Amino acid sequence: MTKQLDLVESKTDCVFCKIVAGEIPCFKIYEDENFLAFLDINPWVEGHTLVIPKKHYRWVWDLPENLIGQYFAVCRKIANHYRQVLKTEFIMSYIYGWEVPHAHIHLFPDARGKIAMYPKIKRGQLSSEEGEKLAKRLRLI
Ligand SMILES: [Zn+2]
Repeated sequence: MTKQLDLVESKTDCVFCKIVAGEIPCFKIYEDENFLAFLDINPWVEGHTLVIPKKHYRWVWDLPENLIGQYFAVCRKIANHYRQVLKTEFIMSYIYGWEVPHAHIHLFPDARGKIAMYPKIKRGQLSSEEGEKLAKRLRLI
């Protein structure tokens, strides 16, 4: 059986587009004209962050040439900020693309020994109190 890749038919149903539009709140870490970064609501590690283009692209590799460099520059900026703030050298990054069909790059601060593979266990949800506190600590804007 072939697995359905695009679980969402259009960007009007896309949860990340709704976050970009402000229809769904997020714990914002960074924002500029083209990109947005926010805490994953179901973090694998503390500070688990998603970096997304504001415009809807299905895959990271769908971004146009003039944006892909900026995208990685934003990820680098956030990762280096986390390295300082969280006093860790290691920021794991991950491009997977299954869960939400809108391009996203995961950043996992200090994930060494904490993430081996795609977890099979259910992740706990980030409470608004935890999220606010952590976003305030990690915010780059
Ligand atoms: Zn989208």
